[in-house]
Amino acid sequence: MAATVIDGKAVAASVRERVKRDVQEVTTQIGRPPGLATVLVGDDPASAIYVGNKRKASEEVGIRSFHHEPDGSLSQDELLALVAELNDSDEIDGILVQLPLPDQIDSAAIVNAIDPDKDVDGLTPISAGRLARGEPGLVSCTPRGIMELIRSAGVEPAGKEAVILGRSNLVGRPLFSLLLGANATVTVCHSRTRDLGEVCRRAEILVAAAGQPRLVTADMIRPGATVIDVGTNRTEDGLVGDVDFAAAKEVAGAITPVPGGVGPMTIAMLLRNTVHAARAQAGEPAWT
Ligand code: NAP
Repeated sequence: MAATVIDGKAVAASVRERVKRDVQEVTTQIGRPPGLATVLVGDDPASAIYVGNKRKASEEVGIRSFHHEPDGSLSQDELLALVAELNDSDEIDGILVQLPLPDQIDSAAIVNAIDPDKDVDGLTPISAGRLARGEPGLVSCTPRGIMELIRSAGVEPAGKEAVILGRSNLVGRPLFSLLLGANATVTVCHSRTRDLGEVCRRAEILVAAAGQPRLVTADMIRPGATVIDVGTNRTEDGLVGDVDFAAAKEVAGAITPVPGGVGPMTIAMLLRNTVHAARAQAGEPAWT
């Protein structure tokens, strides 16, 4: 029987509706709307589109957007000074510095300078450490979105075999902590993993985040598994995921498409993180 296709756009739309109501509540509670600062350095067209989409989505749910677009030639010290100013602002709850940054700037130094309580991308070492230790904090958006998609398919991770393909700081590692926190038995694969197919076939939940077009073939999937495809690969055939969707759909129990699966969830989770940060700034321990 063909798998259920998980509709990421629909799940993201319902998260955004919920966030809109939460924004109204928080606005009453703290006497101002939650604020999200975005920083776009340089003129990378893809980054400009991503930041534009994030600002538009924020404004649609009532989050106030504070946008900064410094010249691409600014120095590291100048960017650090801007981050410090945003850290100190009482109107700003979340800070997002769009990556990649120009060559003269050390991205890690900039990310590390963001106040962890305003780190809505969940990329600072403090956020990563809190997550790894199972402590409350802001969690990076794509892994959070993946957990929502798994649950939206009616799948409870507790006790299940989960396999993640990829160990990046952005996706694989934080997702490992989230799935472990949800009591799954988690295996993380990478480019040195021996017999990838055999490991993947164990998975009741399989998440592919390797950035390799159609790396996961149908024979690597356990019948009935929940398959989440994070891959976003631009090929001659257009945008494809890390999973051979057409064949995998015949084996999996539930599967996300590319596009229309994980992608829409990432922005929805950024909005949710901003609301959580605003609540926490107001002294309410609302993080999960
Ligand atoms: P990344 O930093 O390049 O990490 C890729 C990971 O996959 C690495 O750990 C790498 O192993 C592993 N890998 C690569 N080839 C492999 C292979 N043949 N077998 C097993 N493991 C392999 O990528 P990322 O930032 O995590 O992103 C992964 C994909 O997700 C990309 O396509 C990206 O565009 C997409 N993405 C989508 C969203 C969204 O919102 N839709 C968000 C983030 C990322 P090593 O560590 O050994 O090198």
